[in-house]
Amino acid sequence: MSKREDDASTIPETIVDRNNGFSYIRRRFFGKGGFAKCYELEKVGSGVIYAGKIVSKTLLMKENQKEKMAQEIHIHRSLEHRNIVKFYTYFEDTHNVYVLLELCRRRSMMELHKRRKALTEPEVRYFMKQLLEGVSYLHDLKIIHRDLKLGNLFLNDHLEVKIGDFGLAAKIEYSGQRKKTVCGTPNYIAPEILTKKGHSFEVDVWSIGCILYTLLVGRPPFETSSLRETYNRIKKCEFSIPSHISENAAAMVHSMLMPDPLQRPSVKQLLRSDFMTIGYCPRDLPPSILTTAPRFD
Ligand code: ADP
Repeated sequence: MSKREDDASTIPETIVDRNNGFSYIRRRFFGKGGFAKCYELEKVGSGVIYAGKIVSKTLLMKENQKEKMAQEIHIHRSLEHRNIVKFYTYFEDTHNVYVLLELCRRRSMMELHKRRKALTEPEVRYFMKQLLEGVSYLHDLKIIHRDLKLGNLFLNDHLEVKIGDFGLAAKIEYSGQRKKTVCGTPNYIAPEILTKKGHSFEVDVWSIGCILYTLLVGRPPFETSSLRETYNRIKKCEFSIPSHISENAAAMVHSMLMPDPLQRPSVKQLLRSDFMTIGYCPRDLPPSILTTAPRFD
């Protein structure tokens, strides 16, 4: 074995799946998350390009990290929906675990948000519809995502929303089950997770409410300069909606950011809300909206 291959921190230029002999050429570097490095991987022979999430086994030494990754793979591989990042396959070699996913070339809604801040209401409707349809599918399968945030909403070349990162996802095993803990810190965290009261599907509705607010207003609802203060505001549900936001949009945000989880609407009810059903919803959006506000006329 060469010195380079022996170094656990390096990733080979040609990656081989020993289960079936398929090999992949490592192309462009995409980004780095908490655990994974993401590259474009080109399958030799077919030329098909995947997003390869590569996790070094040195990061999976602790039993609970290994378990988390196994859970992520177990949940994600069973999913098939046009608004969920498609999971193709996974395998490992001596040094790394490789997860091959649908490539989302237009990055995530995080980058869109940083560039554009507040979006127009037709755009918000367009993105929300796809997010709600993806989450409706998950909830039908009794899966809670638990970390819905702009950075986990990926965009393909056609600016279709693809929900990704199932690292904190969980399955509700029996009707009425309340989960007690999350192993990790969700971004748009619901008050019932902070107060450890037991949580379920409603935490996704809370997070989508925070996403909706952020897309409409241009900044998150509970943002302060300290995490402690932000958590206090979340527990008190202290937020305000600027007066230029339409009545139907504001009503939808209010319904989702209810302190009592049982008062929040289901994802299916949200798809039938006034904001979602009254007003223009584009069937598709051009890539120019990534940098410039569109004009709908
Ligand atoms: P982690 O689970 O370690 O936090 P992430 O899911 O955040 O890893 O992914 C790390 C990086 O890879 C991010 O910067 C993200 O932009 C990129 N990425 C993840 N999945 C895809 C995908 N399907 N298509 C394109 N880029 C992706």
